Amino acid sequence: MVKAADWSRGNLQTIIDVIPALLSYFDAGHVCRFANDYHRFWYGRPPQELVGLHMRDFLGHEGYAQRAAHLERVAKGEEVAFDARVPYLNGTVRDASIRYVPRMTESGDYDGFYVLVFDTAILQHRFHSVFDGTALAFWELDLSIGMKLREEGRSVREVIRATRIVDLNVKATTLFGLNRGQVLGASIADRWPVVSEATFEAAVKALEDGAPSFETETILRRSDGTLLDVLVNCAFPQTGGVRTTMVLGMVDLTERNAREAALSQLQNEVAHASRIATLGELAASIAHEVNQPLGAIVNNGNAAMRWLSRPEPALGEVRHSIELLVSEAKRASDIIRRTRALATKGTTDRAYVEPAVLIEEAAALVSRQVASLGANLRIHVARNLPSIKADRVQIQQVLVNLMINAAQAMEGQDRPAEIRASATATPEGVAFAVEDNGAGIPPERLDQLFNAFYTTKAAGMGIGLSVSKTIVEAHGGTICAGFGSDGGARFVFIIPSPKDD
Ligand code: ADP
Repeated sequence: MVKAADWSRGNLQTIIDVIPALLSYFDAGHVCRFANDYHRFWYGRPPQELVGLHMRDFLGHEGYAQRAAHLERVAKGEEVAFDARVPYLNGTVRDASIRYVPRMTESGDYDGFYVLVFDTAILQHRFHSVFDGTALAFWELDLSIGMKLREEGRSVREVIRATRIVDLNVKATTLFGLNRGQVLGASIADRWPVVSEATFEAAVKALEDGAPSFETETILRRSDGTLLDVLVNCAFPQTGGVRTTMVLGMVDLTERNAREAALSQLQNEVAHASRIATLGELAASIAHEVNQPLGAIVNNGNAAMRWLSRPEPALGEVRHSIELLVSEAKRASDIIRRTRALATKGTTDRAYVEPAVLIEEAAALVSRQVASLGANLRIHVARNLPSIKADRVQIQQVLVNLMINAAQAMEGQDRPAEIRASATATPEGVAFAVEDNGAGIPPERLDQLFNAFYTTKAAGMGIGLSVSKTIVEAHGGTICAGFGSDGGARFVFIIPSPKDD
């Protein structure tokens, strides 16, 4: 049986040789007395050729001179750790992390020192390939001077000015339009606009409070002066017990925010277009509503005339009739004013649009409402569909109406509520279909659906489908309702392919 002590003694040499670091022993006169096998890899020479050489032979005159202070300390029995460049194969150098560990004799005299050299270039390379390969932009900031100014009660701007960029990755240089060489060591003041000072303050506060990290959205500035919306994660690595380093990981939100703004703009336009399209139908109801006060005006006018043409005019009755007449006239003018308020914006133009874009944007517009009604919306768009020439907002309005109707028709049903919106090519043009798996439409009602004011809903207006029909027909297309494959309703409208202009 091999005892643990024997085992370790027997294998020690092997272990020392396979360690991927330089391990050596130098005597008090700085002459090498031992070198592990890794020296063969590092210097291209076997260790036995190195034993007996002076440290100067390893490092060159300059490198040896640079170690003088460390060598003095180790000779006093201190353990020394430092980073330095070490000669490598073919006259090159490598960054390394070095330790000198003194060896004392039994009588307590200094005998020499062990040397451990770890190649940090490999680690740095590995770190940098990750650091530079990521889609996140990174800055490493040095706040050591900034934190002192803060203690002195200086302004945030002054602290920002004293904060320097000590490292950044490739993504950060492209995102901010920076030149790495010029920016290293530079202040972040140009990158950090006044509007974002509060975020800086909050990040530094988090660092002071000992928080592990801090995340926020803020605005930073590119080298060309344009502003960037970014999501920032600040990490506070501890170096030597002090926290004056901040590593910022940043994601560009500009595009996302622009998309959100465009979507909300689109929502407004659709709402507006809906009002415009509804106008035609409302005109009918206005005519109806105004008819009634107009009739009353005529009646009251006639009554007043009659009271007046009596031998003794009944002035009290005349006054009463005229009062009623005036109030009816007011009501009629109110009705008209309300409708005029609906038409304050011009109509939109027709242009070439991709069916997929129309469906996707309409789906985005209704997604919340559909989800809140408990339905699931799936989109299927055939490949290589031709573009159509249409008023994008109006066609979206049709899709929105159909999708919302579908979701409403299935509200509260037991089986999962599924809406399927699709676009396919037909000989007549692009066919858009919206299908659900609700109760469907009784066949005898199919004819009435598209009539204005036809509704079966308690709070319905019966306008949606009639407006949709108006829009589709204005585009030269057709719309019809039928039965879905799963028993629900299926609405299809076709927008004809554009004729050559
Ligand atoms: P509203 O939604 O205000 O009722 P619409 O013109 O949008 O007006 O629809 C008219 C009527 O058509 C609805 O009230 C409903 O009865 C019927 N309808 C529309 N879509 C569907 C559908 N997907 N399933 C069943 N019925 C529907």
